[in-house]
Amino acid sequence: MADKPTLTSTSGAPYPTNRTSQTAGSRGPVLMQDHQLIEKLAHQNRERIPERVVHAKGWGLQGTFTVTHDISRYTCAKLFSEVGKTTEVLSRWSTVAGERGAADAERDVRGFALKFYTEDGNWDMVGNNTPIFFVRDAFKFPDFIRTQKRHPKTNMRSPEAMFDFWAAQPESVHQVTILMSDRGIPRTPAHMNGYGSHTFSMWNAEGERHWVKFHFKTQQGHDWLSDAKAAEIIGQTRESYQEELWNMLTEGNFPKWTMYIQVMSEEEALETPFNPFDLTKVWPHEDYPLIEVGELEMNTIPENYFQMVENAAYNVNNVVPGIGFSPDKMLQARILSYADAHRYRLGTHYEALPANAPKNAKVNHYHKDGAMRFFTNDFGNPDAYYEPNQYDGPVADESVQEPPMRIDPEAVAARFDQEESEVDYVQPRALYAEVLDDDERDRLHRNMAGGMAPCTDGVKERWLAVLKKVHPDYEAGVRRALETGQHGDPSLPVTDDTPIRAAE
Ligand code: NDP
Repeated sequence: MADKPTLTSTSGAPYPTNRTSQTAGSRGPVLMQDHQLIEKLAHQNRERIPERVVHAKGWGLQGTFTVTHDISRYTCAKLFSEVGKTTEVLSRWSTVAGERGAADAERDVRGFALKFYTEDGNWDMVGNNTPIFFVRDAFKFPDFIRTQKRHPKTNMRSPEAMFDFWAAQPESVHQVTILMSDRGIPRTPAHMNGYGSHTFSMWNAEGERHWVKFHFKTQQGHDWLSDAKAAEIIGQTRESYQEELWNMLTEGNFPKWTMYIQVMSEEEALETPFNPFDLTKVWPHEDYPLIEVGELEMNTIPENYFQMVENAAYNVNNVVPGIGFSPDKMLQARILSYADAHRYRLGTHYEALPANAPKNAKVNHYHKDGAMRFFTNDFGNPDAYYEPNQYDGPVADESVQEPPMRIDPEAVAARFDQEESEVDYVQPRALYAEVLDDDERDRLHRNMAGGMAPCTDGVKERWLAVLKKVHPDYEAGVRRALETGQHGDPSLPVTDDTPIRAAE
């Protein structure tokens, strides 16, 4: 006993017991004065906070980012200032639709969020494992997420809602194709890429702005699960990602990613055949080659999952001088939405929590009271609690003002995705016909057919019509998989008399 720490109340008083209630006599009722019991039960009642509306199930690690290539011609961000420079990082990967207890190995897009604790404050790279998204206007986002969640009456997920919605949004077919491809169920977060997805911008010391895309390519190689394998794993464990990450790290096998950027000049952005700020489009590698930046290594399991991963609050608006936004409509909306979600989920001063507080920058703001005001912002004089003031309180630094962003003056009126356009089929067609090989297309047909099999004929036909516009073989392959019922086990051989591939 002697060398164990003494158990105390939350106010620090030693506890005489942690096992028995105070009662009136050995057989009598519990006394109300047993505040230790009340504190214990009350804390248990408050152990859960609201789960994230999206990306509720997640896994996180701590690690390091190291610059390997000089990109100072594009950005003055200090974290990229010299080759060899390292920055601490907190990652959180997640599924989108499932609740906090959902199984890890479900077919879904994965969140891929990184918090870089830079000396200029935190840079949050809040991306996904896909370079694009289902919709490109935040007006559609709540509706889209509604289709992914439970039906209000059945309380079950609804493929009918998903495909009904997608069929009315042809710009979704690019992302749905990736979702139904092998990359739709990565084996672990270590076996997938991360993408900033949106177009961001960088500006350099001369005040020149370039548009950029962020890519984090897995060094473990892509590995994925078939629907059948995923079902088998889920039957055994819901925590397959957590378990694999735990095993990797405790064995000293630290996952790594190589960071790249794609760069587009402001002039080039005026000429692209697609809108470079449209979240449903990639920038072709041939035209905008990947430029290597550095290496990300995740090497530490957080001491406390809740403190560092559940409490982690990633904000798209957490950028640092040298990194900026773009006119991407979804990005603009996320700037509002993320901080708003965290204030609701975690409380007013969520940025002061250990996971979110900058580690390498001093925080100086004039925000005042509210829940969780457990820090001081004492600027050396208690009178300096407003700004401007005469007491040497913190002042803004004009030198970090970003250069002006060029914006089309008519953009406000241009509701650019109101009409169906051939441009929405070009990139999914390239993915289907040029990137995927025959076997990958086979599995795509089966996975897609499996996903839409429960839908009504009307929804099926509407979605098949979208696929036909991408490529006739795509529609034919999925239709055949639907008709032959070959969408159960992708590991089954495709026999000659029941080909899933489109007829030649
Ligand atoms: P490339 O041939 O240069 O690039 C094709 C890329 O496709 C690969 O580099 C790989 O991305 C990605 N890819 C491979 N298999 C899959 C899959 N099952 N699901 C999703 N992506 C996959 O051609 P382009 O750059 O001209 O792009 C052609 C198409 O490739 C695009 O229309 C898009 O659908 C897809 N793509 C393009 C990306 C880009 O940033 N240009 C990124 C991802 C997909 P990675 O190298 O990132 O692993």
